[in-house]
Amino acid sequence: MALLPKTAEVVIIGGGVMGTSTAYHLAKKGCRQVVLLEKETFFGQGATGRCAGGFRHQFATEIDIRLSKHSIPMLERFSLEMGQEIGFNQCGYLFLLSREEDVLAFRENVELQRRLGVESVWLSAEEIAQLVPVIHLEGIAASTFCGQDGLADPSSVVQGYVKGARRLGATLLTETEALDIEVAGGRVRGVVTDRGRIQTPVVVNAAGPWAGQVGAMAGVDVFVKPVRRQMSVTTPIPQLPADFPMVIDFAQSLYFHREGPGILTGMSNPDEPPGFDQSVDLDWQIRHFEAATLRMPILAEAGILNSWAGLYEVSPDALPILGRVAELDGFICINGFSGHGFMHGPICGLLIAEEIVDGGAHTVDIKSLRIERFERREGLKEYVVV
Ligand SMILES: Cc1cc2nc3c(=O)[nH]c(=O)nc-3n(C[C@H](O)[C@H](O)[C@H](O)COP(=O)(O)OP(=O)(O)OC[C@H]3O[C@@H](n4cnc5c(N)ncnc54)[C@H](O)[C@@H]3O)c2cc1C
Repeated sequence: MALLPKTAEVVIIGGGVMGTSTAYHLAKKGCRQVVLLEKETFFGQGATGRCAGGFRHQFATEIDIRLSKHSIPMLERFSLEMGQEIGFNQCGYLFLLSREEDVLAFRENVELQRRLGVESVWLSAEEIAQLVPVIHLEGIAASTFCGQDGLADPSSVVQGYVKGARRLGATLLTETEALDIEVAGGRVRGVVTDRGRIQTPVVVNAAGPWAGQVGAMAGVDVFVKPVRRQMSVTTPIPQLPADFPMVIDFAQSLYFHREGPGILTGMSNPDEPPGFDQSVDLDWQIRHFEAATLRMPILAEAGILNSWAGLYEVSPDALPILGRVAELDGFICINGFSGHGFMHGPICGLLIAEEIVDGGAHTVDIKSLRIERFERREGLKEYVVV
């Protein structure tokens, strides 16, 4: 096991997509002595390794659309820049809408998306049936599609960033848990780990669903709650079209995408209480498969190959919490992605590197994402959460 450095310019806590992207972008910007701590045996075993791998431009807020417009091209260039294949596939996202209020909200969303250069369109019932003949469309009033949306492999993205950051001289450690953050005189002084202490003026909280615990170590409330979400992958389904997109029945938070020769499907339980339980809830799985089979009847012919649960890291307005924290010098957040953080990992890692090295994030204006917005009660909220 690599030795624990005694000092660092920056310590990143958490080795998912956010932490590893931040480490890579910091090292690329010339930051020396970047140290990343991951408590598990491997990187990317938290939310990132358990996620559905979807990326999309179809959001309700300008800031989320802007993050996607920067991040998705970074995923597209990933294999060239990082020398790591990530299965980038622009198969599109199809939102199926059954409630009047969603149709009205999506009208505004599509207008906003198109104004920002995103090619989202409304599909007719015939066009939906042609695109996804295996989906039962009863109750569906309208549908939006964006062919620039799609899928990529989260674990490969993490591996790419780990290798890239190490090549540039960063130290990324597994089996090293941050236990405490030393604070004195209103600023960060160091991190205590289960393998010793690192003196540092800057700590990045990239702990995903565990961000609240890491914030508490520094005395900062980061407003992030862990909420269990689960999904399953089926055995092969030969009738599945090769170009099957990500399909989301929005009212039910029920989704399907192609996973090899089978289907990956998930459905979010709206009554799931916050907590760290990552076991599969079998009662919810039964309700999920009842709903899934009604929407996609060929699922009845398939078996379940694998099921697992992971944790969303949920913020109060379903928008990320990014950047410095005014109450504590040297404490930086990259948290609260609320179920759609994998896709924003590339750009958010870059923004945090800019925040630290250039004195402020500038590729995207993150003013509306700073933690102090909760004191100002600004009222912006992301509506398109699955
Ligand atoms: C079921 C599910 C489906 C999802 N689907 C999608 C999707 O389709 N598209 C999308 O964009 N997003 C999706 N997401 C959300 C996405 O997975 C997350 O937003 C994203 O992965 C968050 O990355 P992260 O690096 O912040 O967190 P994580 O990947 O959880 O990384 C945090 C890491 O910090 C480590 N850690 C915690 N505490 C400590 C400590 N004290 N010391 C050291 N290490 C510590 C953890 O072990 C963990 O590895 C989904 C999430 C889930 C659960």
